Amino acid sequence: MSEWVPPALFPDVSFAEWNDWRWQMRHAVRSLAQLERFVPLTEDERKGCLETAGIFRMGISPYYLSLIDRDHPFCPVRMQAIPSRHEATVHPGELRDPLGEDLHRPVEAIVHKYPDRVLFLALDSCSVYCRHCTRRRITRGGEAELTRDAIREGVEYIRAHPKVRDVLLSGGDPFLLVDAKLEEILSAIRAIPHVEMIRIGTRIPVCLPMRVDDALARMLRRFAPLFVITHFNHPKEITPEARAACERLVDHGVPVENQAVLMRRINSDARIIRELSHECLKMRVRPYYLHQMDVAEGTEHLRTPIAKGVEILRALRGHTSGLAVPHLAVDLPGGGGKVTLQPDYVAERRERETIFRNFRGETYAYPEPVETDCSCPYDEVWTARRGARS
Ligand SMILES: *Cc1c(COP(=O)(O)O)cnc(C)c1O
Repeated sequence: MSEWVPPALFPDVSFAEWNDWRWQMRHAVRSLAQLERFVPLTEDERKGCLETAGIFRMGISPYYLSLIDRDHPFCPVRMQAIPSRHEATVHPGELRDPLGEDLHRPVEAIVHKYPDRVLFLALDSCSVYCRHCTRRRITRGGEAELTRDAIREGVEYIRAHPKVRDVLLSGGDPFLLVDAKLEEILSAIRAIPHVEMIRIGTRIPVCLPMRVDDALARMLRRFAPLFVITHFNHPKEITPEARAACERLVDHGVPVENQAVLMRRINSDARIIRELSHECLKMRVRPYYLHQMDVAEGTEHLRTPIAKGVEILRALRGHTSGLAVPHLAVDLPGGGGKVTLQPDYVAERRERETIFRNFRGETYAYPEPVETDCSCPYDEVWTARRGARS
């Protein structure tokens, strides 16, 4: 191995310390005074730290901090981690609970909005508090850590709802739980017969990649089908460490997908999203969603017009691998759930054919078939056999 060169901001750290996620968490930057020792702040950032102190906590792992460009306030890592004054202002239309989750929260740990899947909120803390956090009402720290009882109650809720076949474990960041605790929750969920698959939403590969060791990856693999959904927003975040974390998961048989959030002046550009998608695919991480920013309080400065996302998708579809094109999702304010948007390729609908415009702007006709009955005659047989098997 080549000689250990400590990051410039932490010249005294040993290799072992830097790669120990607990060391990282113990040394996370949580105050203005600490932050100023590492990054020369702009006036907006200084005031941002002070004015948002009582609104939403700050926390930056040394690793993520080391990715910040100290000379440029528009560094995408910096903008995601350091508060701005804008966050202290609530704009019209912004909501404390932008996705109406608390309206669909039958028990503390569960958000149940869709018929066959639930969100399981396992804890309220993160390795880095994203300045664009949509769940800041929870991650701000006002809610207590979920107790053993709350977790048991969440598991019981799923057990009592046989239609739930997909459980999405989130928070907070579930990978901040120690292996044993995470394993206990996963085991309890996995033991429910109607749960077909588990997903874990985490920013650990982005913000604290040293947490993903072989033991964690091996443990997750035992709960297959289990998908890790991570959250890279800019190609700058795809470092050798982040890549190693994602590849370790995939190598152990745990598929990894990415959800990015479209944010003004951070990644609101087709070139950046294309590069992000390509870099994700190179480490076998599949772009899943590109999210329109939610209307969380104090995040207006990061929102893009709806048309921007559509324009970005138009610049991707056809121009690059279909695998590199995420779904553009708007999670509707107030709790309507996700809808997706895409460029409109239909130029004209006629009775016998549909006229499309392709990615190059050329028009093509697709003729309608004569027969329109689409029922599947074998389906009766198939459903009967499936019923007999299960
Ligand atoms: C996003 C979300 C899901 C998962 O949605 P998919 O489209 O299946 O990825 C489930 N529950 C809630 C409450 C969500 O916000």
